[in-house]
Amino acid sequence: MTNLVILGGGYGGMRLLNELLPDHLPSGVSVTLVDKNPYHSLKTEYYALAAGTVSDRELRVDFPEHPRLTIKYGDVTGINLGEQSVDLNSSEKIGYDILVIGLGCEDKYHNVPGADRYTLSIQSIEKSRQTYQTLSNLAPGGTVGIVGAGLSGVELASELSESRPDLQVKLFDRGNHILPAFPDRLSEYVENWFVRHGVEVINNSNITRVEENVLYNHDEPVQCDAVVWTAGIQANRIVRELDVEKDSSGRLTVTPHHHLPGYENVFVVGDCASLTHAPSAQLAEGQAEQIAEILKKRWSGEEIPETLPPIKLKGVLGSLGKKQGFGMMAERAITGRVARLLKSGVLWLYKYHKG
Ligand SMILES: Cc1cc2nc3c(=O)[nH]c(=O)nc-3n(C[C@H](O)[C@H](O)[C@H](O)COP(=O)(O)OP(=O)(O)OC[C@H]3O[C@@H](n4cnc5c(N)ncnc54)[C@H](O)[C@@H]3O)c2cc1C
Repeated sequence: MTNLVILGGGYGGMRLLNELLPDHLPSGVSVTLVDKNPYHSLKTEYYALAAGTVSDRELRVDFPEHPRLTIKYGDVTGINLGEQSVDLNSSEKIGYDILVIGLGCEDKYHNVPGADRYTLSIQSIEKSRQTYQTLSNLAPGGTVGIVGAGLSGVELASELSESRPDLQVKLFDRGNHILPAFPDRLSEYVENWFVRHGVEVINNSNITRVEENVLYNHDEPVQCDAVVWTAGIQANRIVRELDVEKDSSGRLTVTPHHHLPGYENVFVVGDCASLTHAPSAQLAEGQAEQIAEILKKRWSGEEIPETLPPIKLKGVLGSLGKKQGFGMMAERAITGRVARLLKSGVLWLYKYHKG
């Protein structure tokens, strides 16, 4: 039996499973999925979990079932490329013939002193739960600082301002305008929404230090009852510790066929892979589809084309609370209720088609 081991049942791992099961797994291949959680988690909604507007249960999707799929619950603690094995926290070692690394990402603190210790996170379901607990237990009128005004910071700030209108939400942004990856028109639309909803946007900020209940903007102290970090990501620590070529965010360099250079049997999917596009769930899924195609071709002895088609990304949608949204679809900016409805529709489709 060839053992295909998939590390991480996130957007990449889940899409790969759905592409291979139930009908595309040759009889000589079995699959082992390793994840620390017994379900797939809808990471794109962690801002809502943290803000207290959706329940934990709503963000879980069951893993598929198949006679040749084994699911191992545990923390991956190491990958041994030389001996083709993976270590788990239970001291178990799992050998692989083919490995797919899809362990996602973690916060990147850019060496800001205290940021790792004194800020909350929405990068994992465990940390989002802790963030929810802290934010929901804040006394009336408390101040929340959110550092980083990309998509996740903006979604958290807007959701929290609707969920707890009594809180003072301060969104610290490094640039002249929030949402640097979006056209100015969208940034302005979102900034106006924040003005109307009492969220304070602090542009051109530079967070130089964080202490308990204080963050320093250009070394000036700002008292906060809680600080959430949404100012950057890097690959999962397990991946950063691998002794192979990586980019400055610890993401692994991959060939056009999505495997590690020199390791044709080790594929990398999603936020762990260094790709030209910014990391996203859509990108992870597109990459997983291509990895599935490569595996199917290999198993059936078909030739693999030297280059694969570019991964098509459909656009980005962001929420501004439960009623308004913004986004780019087919290179067109959309705002308002339509954008929000589209985002809810995409989520619904994803959830009820099991990824
Ligand atoms: C608030 C927020 C909003 C977002 N919104 C969007 C959006 O609108 N559109 C979009 O395309 N993208 C969005 N993203 C980005 C998107 O969520 C990620 O790019 C995507 O989840 C990456 O998929 P992945 O498969 O690489 O990793 P993940 O989906 O993060 O999955 C990683 C898996 O690995 C498991 N794992 C991690 N470490 C270990 C370990 N040591 N041992 C065992 N298992 C482990 C985790 O439990 C998880 O199941 C958003 C992200 C956030 C935080």
